[in-house]
Amino acid sequence: MTLAEHYADQAEALCRLCHLFGKRQWCLATSGNFSVRTGTSHCLITQSGRDKTRLTAADLMLCDLDGVPSEPGLTPSAEAALHTLLYRLDGRTAAVLHTHSVAATVVSRAVDTEVEFSGFEMQKAIAGIASHDCTVSLPVFENSQDMADLATRVQQRAAHSGLTIPGFLVRGHGLYAWGNTLAQAARHVEGFEFLLSTALHERSFRP
Ligand SMILES: [Zn+2]
Repeated sequence: MTLAEHYADQAEALCRLCHLFGKRQWCLATSGNFSVRTGTSHCLITQSGRDKTRLTAADLMLCDLDGVPSEPGLTPSAEAALHTLLYRLDGRTAAVLHTHSVAATVVSRAVDTEVEFSGFEMQKAIAGIASHDCTVSLPVFENSQDMADLATRVQQRAAHSGLTIPGFLVRGHGLYAWGNTLAQAARHVEGFEFLLSTALHERSFRP
């Protein structure tokens, strides 16, 4: 039994969510990565290069919150550094989910440093947002193949102005969202993905 399989309930819940997001084409071609916190010092995270539509507990692994694998020979997702940073930044964060949808990719390339949503009922999917009558700003970070560099920029933003909503975009890449439970993190992904899709449709819809 792998360490990941030891956390059977959490692994099964995470796999079910990956299958759902896979069906929605938010993590094609083995893209995306997903994790849940397993305690104060570790998280369960997808291994590198796994098909999310067929994910099983054997495709997950345990690493500490510095990204060090708990089992020799296993390689976490390339973006584990961002997951572990988000867990270290807020001890309440219980799950971090990262999708590579068409909407997140296209919209992140069309805006400057953030994408703003206002007037949408779906904004209320995000924790702390109680009304359509406000503006939700989703930050956009420049992409990099150097995850330590990307994590440093996210950390600097968190220190400077805080991560005021539980999500951000990486340009030309995808969406990160998190929550205090796996269900809340999933709701945030669904809410942000909905809003990003509306941005695409509104640009193409000309009455
Ligand atoms: Zn990615």
